Amino acid sequence: DVERLYRSLTPTSHEYFLEGSRYLPGADSRSTLFHLPYPLVLSEGHGCRVSDVDGNELLDFTGNHTSLVLGYGHPRVREAVRDQLDRGTCFPGATALGVRMAKLLCDRIPSVERVRFTNSGTEAVMYAVRAARAFTGRPGVAKVEGGYHGSWDDVMVSTRPAGQAGDRVRPAAVPASPGLTPGALGTTVVLPFNEAEAAARLIEQYGEQLAAVVVEPVLGSAGMIPADRDYLVMLRELTARLGIVLVFDEVVSFRIAHGGAQEHFAVSPDLTCLGKLIGGGFPLGAFGGRGDIMALFDPSGGGPRMPHPGSYNANPVSLAGGLATLEVLTGEAIGGLNARGARLRNRMRAAFAEAGLPAQVTGLGSLFAIHPVAHPVRAYRDTIGADAGCRHRIFLGLFTEGVLIDPRGVGCVSTAAGEAEVDRFTGALRTVLEG
Ligand code: PMP
Repeated sequence: DVERLYRSLTPTSHEYFLEGSRYLPGADSRSTLFHLPYPLVLSEGHGCRVSDVDGNELLDFTGNHTSLVLGYGHPRVREAVRDQLDRGTCFPGATALGVRMAKLLCDRIPSVERVRFTNSGTEAVMYAVRAARAFTGRPGVAKVEGGYHGSWDDVMVSTRPAGQAGDRVRPAAVPASPGLTPGALGTTVVLPFNEAEAAARLIEQYGEQLAAVVVEPVLGSAGMIPADRDYLVMLRELTARLGIVLVFDEVVSFRIAHGGAQEHFAVSPDLTCLGKLIGGGFPLGAFGGRGDIMALFDPSGGGPRMPHPGSYNANPVSLAGGLATLEVLTGEAIGGLNARGARLRNRMRAAFAEAGLPAQVTGLGSLFAIHPVAHPVRAYRDTIGADAGCRHRIFLGLFTEGVLIDPRGVGCVSTAAGEAEVDRFTGALRTVLEG
């Protein structure tokens, strides 16, 4: 069976897993990468190919959970980073790179008037929410059921795989981890995704206590589920009316269009959070938006001032990698990427249909996810009953056919993968589904 085949192909990964487990709980430091029987240990990546420690070469459709939009080791990124390594890896002062990157992001995303850099998407969301609280003087945050915004307590609520509670249109908050501060659950309101009327009722109900509504325009970790434009429009209009700060978490969705998913949907938030691909494979996050809110972080002004320290904030190596990446990721490049994403999703759907297996393939642009369920997937709740065994067999089966996706069935196309690679992927999927 497929697990035996996986084991026979990955003896060295297994050895690392056994040894690593003595020093690292789970032999790693990213819980999302864990899968049975033991996770892969990877050693090299070039373009759209990645190799594990046993020498298996795989076509990569993870992009390190969407971070590597140009694939591994793009020559422009390597050159920029090498150049920065020679100049210095961090400084006790601002850098020209920070100004260049900030200008580039403000130019690409009209709703972002000013921006600040962090080390991760988690921190970007944390600062956006804190800024919203400071700006409004209110404590509450509303987030979508299944929406993932990083590992900070206040948003580690009702994320995959915490499961669901309460009614579909009135979800209850579920802690996604033990050990969260009690306040986190108390101040976080969970909204149903793509249920405009029900979500509006909740926002109206809690309105005066809400500092922010935080939403991914395409739910990422929950399974690449695009928002209905009407849902985002409702959030925009209602938050504007109630004085709530609307935060788009575009850590994953920025790749959808030159100006991010907000350009695609033509809906402008007050604040935007970025991460992953903007670091070009190095740790970088950013939050930015309305000038009057971002002014809270301006120490030269006379008003209240929010601290935003961080030894590696706006790290020049990450900025160099990110700038090179965004320079290559033009609107035209994104157009090609999205066309290959659509081709991939269509061919995947055809493969499931031919195999007679009930499954949904969701996504937008170059993002995709496989959901082994018979009903349409419009929200996180629709994914919960998915056949986890089937998803696991597909993941391991694809590995044995030389294709790597995320164990949770989500992934993306990088600019390094052309139509031939997309077709190899769907060919591998056919083989797996027939087997
Ligand atoms: N927001 C979204 C939408 C994400 O997908 C993630 C990471 N998966 C984060 C925030 C957190 O980013 P990081 O892992 O860099 O902390």
